[in-house]
Amino acid sequence: MPESSIQQPSSGTACQRCERVLSAERPVRLPDNRVYCAACCESMAADIFEMETGEPFTRWIEKHPQLVMQYQPLELTVRRFGFMFPLAMLLLGAGIFGYGVYTSFRDAVPLPFLLAGLITPLVIGGLWLIYENFSDSLPKAARSALRIFAALLAMAVPVYGLYGCLKFGRPIGFMVVGAAIIAFFAVLALRGLQAYLRALNFKLVLKDGVFYLQHGSRTDTFPADEVVQACVVRPGTVGATEGALRLDDGRMLTLDTCLSDLHALGVVMDLRFRADFPPSADDIARIRRDNLRKIRGLS
Ligand SMILES: [Zn+2]
Repeated sequence: MPESSIQQPSSGTACQRCERVLSAERPVRLPDNRVYCAACCESMAADIFEMETGEPFTRWIEKHPQLVMQYQPLELTVRRFGFMFPLAMLLLGAGIFGYGVYTSFRDAVPLPFLLAGLITPLVIGGLWLIYENFSDSLPKAARSALRIFAALLAMAVPVYGLYGCLKFGRPIGFMVVGAAIIAFFAVLALRGLQAYLRALNFKLVLKDGVFYLQHGSRTDTFPADEVVQACVVRPGTVGATEGALRLDDGRMLTLDTCLSDLHALGVVMDLRFRADFPPSADDIARIRRDNLRKIRGLS
C-alpha cells in the first residue's frame, strides 16, 4: 500500500466530508482509512443501526477497525435447504417418470409412441444448445427455422401427453406427471445451487482502506479508493436483495443483504458517496426525530 494514502489522525485533521478541522473533537477513523467528525458519521447512520447494535455508530465503529462481510451459519443452512429440497423433489419426479416408463413397457405401450415421448425433450434441448452456441454462424433463415421447429416441438409435447393419457391411461400419466415435476424442480434446484455457491466460502473484509475478497479458491484485493460507486442496501429493506460496489475498472461486486457488517459498510459508503445529508446539528436532530416518529408509528 502506498504510504501517502495513510493519514494519521492528529490535531488539525479535517473531516473528509464537511471539511471542518477537528482540533477540539476526536476524529473518527473508519475502516476505509478516512477520517470524519462524529456528527458526519452519526448523520449517515440510521437509528436502526443503534437499535440493532445497541450503540451509536461512532462508538461501534471504533471497536471494529475491520468490517467482515460473510454469511451467517443460519443463512447458509437456509440456502443449503433451498438447493437440497428441490433436488429431492427432482429425484422424486425422476422416480415417478421412471415408474411411468417401466409400466409403459409392462403394459405394452407401442415402442414408437414411447420413444417419441422420450426423444422429443432431448431434441428440444439439443436445438436450444445449437441455437445458444452457434446462432451467430447460422444464416438468418436457418435461425428462424430452428426457432419455429423447436417451438412447434415444444407445443406438441402437451398434446402428446394428453393424447397418451387418454389412449394408454396411467403409464403415460406417470410419465407426464414425472416430467412436469422434473422440469419445475430442475429450475428451482439450479437457482438454489447458484445461490448456495455464491454464499459458500464468501468473505469480504475491509481493513485499512483495502477490501480483501475471498470466494472459494478465488482471492482478490482492491483499495477502497478504487470503488467509484456503491449501493449498499440496509438489511430488511423491502423489495431489495442486494447491494453492489463498482470499481473504476468496470468490475462490479454484488452483495446480499444477509451478510454480517453490511449495515456498517453502508454507512461507510454513504459517507464516501452521498452528499445529500447535511451534517449540521439541527439536521441530525430533525432526522432523529423523524426516524423515532416512524419507528413509534410502526409499533
Ligand atoms: Zn464532518
